[in-house]
Amino acid sequence: AAQAGGDEKEVVRKYFNTAGFDRWKRIYGETDDVNSVQLDIREGHAQTVEKVLQMVKKDGSSEGITVCDAGCGTGSLSIPLAMEGAVVYASDISSSMVEEAEKKTNELMGASCVGTTLVKPRFETKDLESLDGKYHTVACLDVLIHYPQDKAGRMIAHLASLAEKRLILSFAPKTLYYSVLKRIGELFPGPSKATRAYLHSEEDVEAALREAGWVVRRRDMTATKFYFSRLLEAVPAVSQ
Ligand code: SAM
Repeated sequence: AAQAGGDEKEVVRKYFNTAGFDRWKRIYGETDDVNSVQLDIREGHAQTVEKVLQMVKKDGSSEGITVCDAGCGTGSLSIPLAMEGAVVYASDISSSMVEEAEKKTNELMGASCVGTTLVKPRFETKDLESLDGKYHTVACLDVLIHYPQDKAGRMIAHLASLAEKRLILSFAPKTLYYSVLKRIGELFPGPSKATRAYLHSEEDVEAALREAGWVVRRRDMTATKFYFSRLLEAVPAVSQ
């Protein structure tokens, strides 16, 4: 398995259990207590999730397929996937995020969901490095921002080893434009600076995938004012 990020990982864990939890729970939620930057990020992230759901739909029904949502946050992807019939295993390094995801699911199941196919996702507090098992699809959205490039390559190989048919990754792309913006501090405004943020070049991510025997089949990009995320869907090279 890939090696843990050491002290930096502890900083990330602590952040997403404290101030980061409060911030991201609101960004990923539906309440009005967000500022304009957070609202922009909410909208951008919702677009990424919608694109992933569309990617999955393109290959037919989600009914019964196993999905590992690695770094699931508050369940923004896990919950809609489960509502479409996928058997979801969702984990995150932050117990607060996982509890929030579980709470949201329970509220949904207790409310309007009678009669839907929702199979409750299995939620667990676990870091990416300790994930094991095999899943039809592995998704890891907006988590690689916490990984420097050398660790990201190992993490991508690890995630690929858990996936049988499909690996969906989203990450902040390292382009000249975004690198300059990041440097002058126009991106990641405010408290999100509490953790370091790493951009990744698409070439590097693709090279890591190739090395693991995977090829990119679909790609997309979401860019709002403060949110930007490159989305790649990879499949085993042999199936091409
Ligand atoms: N994937 C979710 C989504 O798109 O809604 C959450 C994205 S959020 C920006 C990043 C998440 O990654 C946080 O919930 C954080 O706790 C989690 N995370 C960061 N490092 C992690 C690690 N090493 N293992 C597991 N989760 C991690």
